[in-house]
Amino acid sequence: MLAVDYSAVPVVVTQKSKRSSSAWFDPEEGVIKVILSNRLPKAEAEKVAATLVERVRKKLVRRIRVPPRRRVYEDGEAIRSGGKWLILSIKETEFRKHPAARIEGSTLLVVLPSGMHYQTQRRAVSALIREHWAKSEYARLLLLADEISRKYFNAETPIEDVEITRQNTRWANICRDRIVRLSVRALFLPKDLLEYLMVHELAHLKAGLHAQHGPGYRRALAEAEPDWRKKERELAVWSHIVPVHD
Ligand SMILES: [Zn+2]
Repeated sequence: MLAVDYSAVPVVVTQKSKRSSSAWFDPEEGVIKVILSNRLPKAEAEKVAATLVERVRKKLVRRIRVPPRRRVYEDGEAIRSGGKWLILSIKETEFRKHPAARIEGSTLLVVLPSGMHYQTQRRAVSALIREHWAKSEYARLLLLADEISRKYFNAETPIEDVEITRQNTRWANICRDRIVRLSVRALFLPKDLLEYLMVHELAHLKAGLHAQHGPGYRRALAEAEPDWRKKERELAVWSHIVPVHD
């Protein structure tokens, strides 16, 4: 199970002659920056900084939406999947041999064979919810690839498919089969970086795979994203923030 520990993101605090204090995450440097007003009494400064940092970390954490494996899901609860809220409905039936899930309107209906052991039932529900989540992510990535192709490459870079892989050493890659393979870690990236990642991969199609990361490739990439150097630096920073899995 992947979990991102944002408490590991370093904090840089500076004091300035400003009326109010503020904090934000700088994706290029991979640090949380805090500006403290020098009007704050010393005793308060530390507390204010801690509160501001906590707020920024909370915002970062909201980007993670992988349904946890070990959670117990209750019938009737609202779960978030594929960017929207669904009501979970768990039903038992004698007519089924295997657990299954489907969407009905705004309900995620999970049907279980009756007589299942409580523990097995719990595991089956959470596995189905995770599977549904993965499918909705897949749909989202397919749409993203299509959108990026139209927006940046004149629709000249159609892909065959998107796959979510468990690779740790790279964010993504693309081969002759025109399948974009994304590390599951990439799903933890901020939206703009995930988009850039897709731009990076599609630029390989535009330039021709033989071009690798050479001048021809960089030309195609720069045409689509003039700021690509900055984006690559940000990706490098995020590779320390999103941990690898075993
Ligand atoms: Zn590349």
